[in-house]
Amino acid sequence: MNYPAGTAYIDGAFVPMSEAKISVLDWGFLHSDATYDVVHVWKGRFFRLDSHIERFARSADRLRLTLPVSPGELARILAECVARSGLEDAYVEMVLTRGTSPTFSRDLREARNQLICFAIPFGWILKPEQREAGLSIVLSDIRRIPPDSVDPTVKNYHWLDFVMGLYDAYDRGAQSAVLTDAGGNLAEGPGFNIFTVRQGRIATPDRGVLRGVTRQSAIELAAEFGFPLEERVVAAAEALAADEVFITSTAGGIMPVTRINAAAVGEGRMGPVTRALLEAYWAKHTDSGWSTAVADVLPGR
Ligand code: PLP
Repeated sequence: MNYPAGTAYIDGAFVPMSEAKISVLDWGFLHSDATYDVVHVWKGRFFRLDSHIERFARSADRLRLTLPVSPGELARILAECVARSGLEDAYVEMVLTRGTSPTFSRDLREARNQLICFAIPFGWILKPEQREAGLSIVLSDIRRIPPDSVDPTVKNYHWLDFVMGLYDAYDRGAQSAVLTDAGGNLAEGPGFNIFTVRQGRIATPDRGVLRGVTRQSAIELAAEFGFPLEERVVAAAEALAADEVFITSTAGGIMPVTRINAAAVGEGRMGPVTRALLEAYWAKHTDSGWSTAVADVLPGR
């Protein structure tokens, strides 16, 4: 097994990634009984750290998991992982698993919940050098798990629908997939939210999706530009008829989609609305209203 560079926090200690191991009996592994969140660090600054920690705490609460540290302590643990890793640009994950019962009982209430954090090199759904060409996706026939079965606003590892969607994409020569709901409306993709642009009007699904922090950033940036935007049910057909489509994720920010089901979106290249939002998004990474220096989070600094 190969491990990336980076530092993890597990069992109350900081260790190299290669030493961060959990028991195979952890229900986080056996049942995907866990929640997680991912924040990124860009040029030594966390981007919207508070939003990620708030979402993580809410997800834990909804799943009746107990976070063993306060939000402030969690921020310091994450910053320590980044500082020890030496990474300037990092993908920083916090995970809370159900753990297991010390007596191996099946009663979930007896489980000792386990917090794991780690910082590894930043990863992209679409690399910056691929931005002009954009992403090629498919609208998969695989349905997103219904929101009344697994709440998609709780960030979770129930990814088998996404995994099969990705294989669907590979089989059809595309890079990724967007899943739809039972009514044929857009939901989301493996690690991202989706937006359509038609005649200057932006739309993004308002239900059946994770409330992505990057999605929220795109919504706020659209308001700064004065671009009209609606959070509503978005039919899959709207993506096929759009002038522009883009996706949002911590793993790469705002990224253009230029092909859907092998057909060009609009003119088949990054459009002006996507470009404006993408550039504004990266410009916010040095704005202290949107980002925090890792060193400023560390104790004693
Ligand atoms: N939707 C799903 C299912 C995700 O897993 C993610 C991120 O991993 C997103 C959307 C995008 O969320 P964010 O912008 O907070 O990274």
